[in-house]
Amino acid sequence: MVSRVIPVDPFDLVIFGGTGDLARRKILPGLYRRYCAGQMPEDARIIGAARGEMDDAGYRDFVREAIVEFSPPKEQNAEQIDGFLSRLHFIVIDAKGTGGWSDLAALMRDGVVRAFYFSVAPGLFGDLATRLHAHAIADDDSRIVVEKPFGRDLATAKALNKVLAEHFDEHQIYRIDHYLGKETVQNLMAVRFGNILFEPLWNAQYVDHIQITVAETVGVGGRGSYYDKSGAMRDMVQNHLMQLICLIAMEPPSHFDPDAVRDEKLKVIRALDPLAPDEIVRGQYLADEDQPGYLVDCEDPASKTESFIAMKMHISNWRWKGTPIYVRTGKRLRARASEIAVVFKDPPHNIFGEQEDRRGNVLVIRLQPNEGMNLRVTIKEPGPGGMRLVEVPLDMSFAEALGPDAEDIPDAYERLIMDVIRGNQTLFMRGDEVEAAWAWTDPIIAAWEAKGDKPKGYDAGSSGPEDALMLLHRDGRRWREIRE
Ligand code: NAD
Repeated sequence: MVSRVIPVDPFDLVIFGGTGDLARRKILPGLYRRYCAGQMPEDARIIGAARGEMDDAGYRDFVREAIVEFSPPKEQNAEQIDGFLSRLHFIVIDAKGTGGWSDLAALMRDGVVRAFYFSVAPGLFGDLATRLHAHAIADDDSRIVVEKPFGRDLATAKALNKVLAEHFDEHQIYRIDHYLGKETVQNLMAVRFGNILFEPLWNAQYVDHIQITVAETVGVGGRGSYYDKSGAMRDMVQNHLMQLICLIAMEPPSHFDPDAVRDEKLKVIRALDPLAPDEIVRGQYLADEDQPGYLVDCEDPASKTESFIAMKMHISNWRWKGTPIYVRTGKRLRARASEIAVVFKDPPHNIFGEQEDRRGNVLVIRLQPNEGMNLRVTIKEPGPGGMRLVEVPLDMSFAEALGPDAEDIPDAYERLIMDVIRGNQTLFMRGDEVEAAWAWTDPIIAAWEAKGDKPKGYDAGSSGPEDALMLLHRDGRRWREIRE
């Protein structure tokens, strides 16, 4: 298999917040990788724009260090790095003031794609949009990329949408959810809609339930007080997990084009039932011998923010009525593992007699680590002694299946930025999707805030609070083990 790299059109990409943590760790090393892959045309330029004293040479040094720190050593090639750095410029700019804007206007070229990455606090989005417009830096074809968090509730998300809409049309706005840029997440669509095999079974008649797990081993550490303002529901569920639910549950779009896909995703969010209080479990990790617990990490001993959440969700439509979706995500759990498991029902009639511990068909889509898919099927246990059944995995690791090509798979940020340049919004959230997700989330958060609910403590390195296990046990089901 030979991977094809199609160069994008020439562009000027301005990264507001070009000296920030996200630019350093993800955006710039990602762009370097695309450069090395040959995807960046000769006359593509990247312009860092941020507060502080810096010039082009200083920015190139800064980016060189970022590449050395955050790119795998085998991808670091002095000649390539120099070539990439020669594309970089820097403008000192103040999003809230006048400084730097005419310099930026003078630097931009006509006849190339203009893209503006807002890698700054959301409070600055409006200032940037207004000034880009006022200085005639953005035109009708320009794109803006905005980072999460897109609001902290429906009202703030609406306000952000409104402020962006004052100067940009929806087709110009790229709301990033980097989960959508993950290879396996896109494979969800390929598997569902590129094969005849699964789709006939992909409904409440054949699917018993779905489990989605996004588990991390790290705590909130150095960014505890920041995290404490959001918690797992706002930080993970409203955006990343919601997007996974949409892709797993949506109807086949008629075309693979941005609005067709996003229309179908929106219908899923709108079909989500409100949650009953006993369908949610919230937790906070406790201290262990080596590390402090959440309440110390977040610097507020009275915090009621959750570092773990598990939920039983329901989609009220013809396809999914009666098939629960169990979702859990949290920090300081047993292993770093993200997966979606579609657990199928048992065959309607068992001709082999009762056998203990039969677990049936499960399709597991692993997002990380070891991206891949795994279908558990029943076969006969080898050897004499009658017809004993056993479940075995049909396992496909993408790294093994794709061989050396798997190493060239762009990471989420790389892919998404190139999609921005191409003008393809399929993997970006539309404004109404984000608002619908907050409209579902808001009353749930409001209910626990009104009651003053305190999350349950759970042991660091565990699978979360006991109650999260009960969420499935009481339905006669069990979570899959969290393991790498
Ligand atoms: P950061 O604090 O590390 O960097 C902020 C950047 O904004 C700096 O370059 C700073 O110079 C610039 N800036 C601040 N005020 C400015 C002003 N008035 N005018 C011009 N530039 C100004 O932040 P970050 O971690 O890089 O995050 C940037 C955005 O990305 C935030 O919205 C954040 O929520 C989001 N995000 C970050 C991460 C991450 O891993 N860091 C992950 C997801 C989303």
